[in-house]
Amino acid sequence: ALSSERYDVVVVGGGPGGYVAAIKASQLGLKTACVESRAARQSTLRDAAAPPTRPVATRRSRGTLGGTCLNVGCIPSKALLHSSHLYEEATKHFKDHGIVVNDVKVDLDKMMANKASSVDSLTGGIEFLFKKYKVDYLQGKGTLQGPNSVGVALNDGGAETLDAAHILLATGSEVSPLPPCPVDNAGGRIVDSTGALDLKEIPKTMAVIGGGVIGLEMGSVWRRLGTKVTVIEFLDHIVPGTDKDVGKTFLRLLKKQGMKFKLKTAVQSAEVAEEGVALTHAPAKGGDATTDHFDVVLVATGRRPFTEGLGLENLGIETDKLGRVQVDEHFRTKVPSVFAFGDVIDGPMLAHKAEEEGIACVENIAGFAGHVNYDAIPGVIYTHPELATVGRTEEQLKEANIEYKVGSFPFSANSRARAVGDSEGMVKVLTDAASDKILGVHIIGPNAGEMIAEGVLGMEYGASSEDVARTCHAHPTLSEAMKEACMAASSQPIHF
Ligand code: FAD
Repeated sequence: ALSSERYDVVVVGGGPGGYVAAIKASQLGLKTACVESRAARQSTLRDAAAPPTRPVATRRSRGTLGGTCLNVGCIPSKALLHSSHLYEEATKHFKDHGIVVNDVKVDLDKMMANKASSVDSLTGGIEFLFKKYKVDYLQGKGTLQGPNSVGVALNDGGAETLDAAHILLATGSEVSPLPPCPVDNAGGRIVDSTGALDLKEIPKTMAVIGGGVIGLEMGSVWRRLGTKVTVIEFLDHIVPGTDKDVGKTFLRLLKKQGMKFKLKTAVQSAEVAEEGVALTHAPAKGGDATTDHFDVVLVATGRRPFTEGLGLENLGIETDKLGRVQVDEHFRTKVPSVFAFGDVIDGPMLAHKAEEEGIACVENIAGFAGHVNYDAIPGVIYTHPELATVGRTEEQLKEANIEYKVGSFPFSANSRARAVGDSEGMVKVLTDAASDKILGVHIIGPNAGEMIAEGVLGMEYGASSEDVARTCHAHPTLSEAMKEACMAASSQPIHF
């Protein structure tokens, strides 16, 4: 039985941080188990309300790996972003290419089913990888019982106790509540990102509260499908923390697509009413309140670490005032056998950040020198055009008193972007004025999320902008805009 074995590593949480760490640990020869409590969803919210096709009693509950990212985050959102992009291309842009299509319609059920099947194939893929690399997968909720003991309340009933030399906490995050807007995903009126990924019909109007990544991505999905979307943001700008220049261009492009913005605006209350959700807001600095009605209100103001029921208190492991588990640079909590990484600790809440940390943590445990370079973690917003960044912004360089140079290149001067009729945006490269080392890359444009990898790799290797400018890039490709921005930073571009 599992309970009698001693594990080298027990990972609590099977999201991108946890499952990647579990596979790596096993690859490094450590006996590993991963505990994940999430049950596979039966189907969409809509179907959940319908009578089950088989009696519930005959169905064995099924778990699902991949965490927030695969189940209700990165993957389903990208599936809907792609489907809605295709619809927008068909209805607005095919004609520019001489393609005439009439009567283009959205079959939302089919679109949602396509999203669900992408999710299912990927989560199933992780289960397969666990088998391949001999990671034991326990479906249940893990609780710390001691420095070397994890209790598991199994989803199908019963309990196990796992004995572990090292315990890795990768329990992720959950939506932070916004008190004036109580979320009810099943009701489908005031929803969070999980509800917005599963709406039953295309709303006529939607308010998105919060102008960050998740709000703008989900707002874009529904806007493309026909919803009038208004983004309400407390600050005077969207995508906080992004290079200001790039953020302004991004705002202009989103407005051009028809998204409306109410900046410097505070939401006071949201009430579900007959004619839609009555949303009351006022200028952030104070002033008269206004009430508008929306079919759906999406709350996208942030996420917080999730440690409920984990039993941190049993071992005296501390969290800070934002609920983040406190760790040292080797991801160790104050209990030497317990580690944590991913969304549950400090840093950007990104799947790839969680993965890098999980691998570094396990490498350290196995006696190697695991390390995460926090200066080279990319961030991508998968709207169209995409926004992708890595490294420092101009504002951060100014604040740190670092002398820098800027090399910019617009996609309107890139032949591939012109050939495919998708030439909005630019590449902006920031370099150290003295050494020419690349300190930051900020891209708005088609495929920016793929292109940023060149900037990340360059920064990881300490490249100068001249290094990239002198590297041969295939023609005609969008990546030539990166080369030319680097030429602009180190000497002069050719095509602009
Ligand atoms: P999680 O993915 O949250 O996984 C933690 C897992 O632990 C969960 O499955 C949970 O069920 C389980 N768990 C918790 N407590 C216990 C317990 N006691 N016992 C057993 N299991 C437990 N990031 C990107 O990089 N790119 C994107 O495009 C992107 N898009 C996103 C879109 C949306 C709508 C959302 C919400 C998030 C998105 N993210 C994206 C963020 C990304 O999903 C997270 O950063 C990532 O999932 C964090 O990984 P994690 O392993 O730390 O935690």
